[in-house]
Amino acid sequence: MRIPSTLTGLVVAPDDPAYHLARTNYNSRFAPFSPSYIVYPKTSDDVGRALMWARRYRIPFRARSGGHSYEAYSLLNGGLVIDLSLINHIYQSQSTGFWHIGAGARLLNVYQTLWDKANVTIPGGSCPSVGLSGLTLGGGYGLIARQHGLCIDALVAVTMVDAQGRTLVSSLDQHADLFWALRGAGANNFGVVTELVFCAVPVGLVTIFSITWPWSHLAAVIQAFQCWADPSGLDHRITSILTLPARSHGYIRLVGQFLGTPAQLQPMLRPLLEIPDHSEIVQVKSYIEAVRHFAGLGSDPECWLAQGVPNHDTFKNTSAYAHHMLPGSAIAAIAQALNDTPGPASLVQLGQMGGRIGEIRPEDTAFYHRRARFDLQYQAYWTDPTQAESHIRWVEDFRQRMSPWTVGAYVNYCDARIEDWPRAYYGKNLDRLMHVKRRWDPRLVFRYPQGLSQIMAPGCHLEDASSFWTDALPTAWPTEVKSQWTMGPWL
Ligand SMILES: Cc1cc2nc3c(=O)[nH]c(=O)nc-3n(C[C@H](O)[C@H](O)[C@H](O)COP(=O)(O)OP(=O)(O)OC[C@H]3O[C@@H](n4cnc5c(N)ncnc54)[C@H](O)[C@@H]3O)c2cc1C
Repeated sequence: MRIPSTLTGLVVAPDDPAYHLARTNYNSRFAPFSPSYIVYPKTSDDVGRALMWARRYRIPFRARSGGHSYEAYSLLNGGLVIDLSLINHIYQSQSTGFWHIGAGARLLNVYQTLWDKANVTIPGGSCPSVGLSGLTLGGGYGLIARQHGLCIDALVAVTMVDAQGRTLVSSLDQHADLFWALRGAGANNFGVVTELVFCAVPVGLVTIFSITWPWSHLAAVIQAFQCWADPSGLDHRITSILTLPARSHGYIRLVGQFLGTPAQLQPMLRPLLEIPDHSEIVQVKSYIEAVRHFAGLGSDPECWLAQGVPNHDTFKNTSAYAHHMLPGSAIAAIAQALNDTPGPASLVQLGQMGGRIGEIRPEDTAFYHRRARFDLQYQAYWTDPTQAESHIRWVEDFRQRMSPWTVGAYVNYCDARIEDWPRAYYGKNLDRLMHVKRRWDPRLVFRYPQGLSQIMAPGCHLEDASSFWTDALPTAWPTEVKSQWTMGPWL
């Protein structure tokens, strides 16, 4: 196949042996996609050329970093995938001390390099292969979040290629509106990010803990966890995740990390340890060993895994936030859902928030849900394709059933079934986001099914609606497109 000469970097076409792997999403719930090309830029200029090529030939495109989008939003059929994985440098600026990280770097590589070079880290997520860009642009939650905030809270600047193919830097001092929007709503909405700059924090030894109870204690454990995990009351050095699996598992488990010693931690765990029949593991590790444990790469992955289920990558996940303590009726609803699962790998995780996350105001970055007590991630995994429908339905029913006691959703746990996703993801920040979108991408060059473009022109991510992609665009919208608009109350 003839590859367009204006695309620079490594280009993979359908007849390339690398194509099959390159068109596959992490989540094998999705069949392999059929993009026309997958380009691997090596520089921001390559990214700019890819973008201009796509615009010139009216080809839809998506940016991809780690390829872990829950809804495969970094892939598409018949378009261009701009894969950032070759832009993966990690170095410290001698003048500022900040860490410059290429958009295609993956989490474990970032943690390992920061640790090896300077015993520092950034507050990211747990899965080793998740892309730093996708994670950061939606917020980025992990097991030091209550002490150091979300990943975006350590971000000091972002380099991005905009809709005109220009490379620009945004920070608190430059293009501050864009920098605000990129911190929580940055995925495929305003440009293709090529570099993230972070202020890293020192780390050394940490204490990790895992407490397991029989499943029959579910109600007592949720109740105790809620009281214990008081957003501002509990020591910020603790961040933990409560995993509530299907009843057939027989147990429930809290895993967490404390940025201090076991002796300091023990009295803090007392309210949880008062619930009988528990078994408890408390270990001191170097920070990087703890990262590997929570990533499922330690000696006992079953005990420590902080996200999902080991060795399963066919799944449907979704989320919501709890701003208040769950009442007894909500706890009963959780018990009922877990009592009646479509398969054994069905669960909900409660990720503790508060601390530094909540000290930052919801309007200070595009990430809105800062005041939540915890997030709930409803998850179902399966291997047999015939089980897909029952698992997907269970996840959706569970989310709906909990809706009287929860709000919103986490954009990084994106879910195509959430109807009012703009408000669910962005809450009261949506209006301001639309202003930034209109300023930086007035022609809706950046699109995907749950992108901000969809709010202005529903259906615009579809290939047949790509008629207004070129520079030759009229300043007024073509009437056939305009007639499809549904103006939201925020416009
Ligand atoms: C196993 C697993 C564990 C996870 N654990 C955590 C966790 O601990 N904490 C947490 O907060 N989240 C977690 N997540 C969610 C994760 O943050 C999101 O799935 C995230 O979007 C993945 O980023 P990615 O780069 O790997 O994905 P991709 O599929 O490459 O990208 C995700 C989205 O970002 C856009 N995008 C990617 N790169 C760029 C770029 N350079 N410029 C502009 N847009 C871009 C894509 O177009 C797509 O819309 C987990 C996900 C999985 C599958």
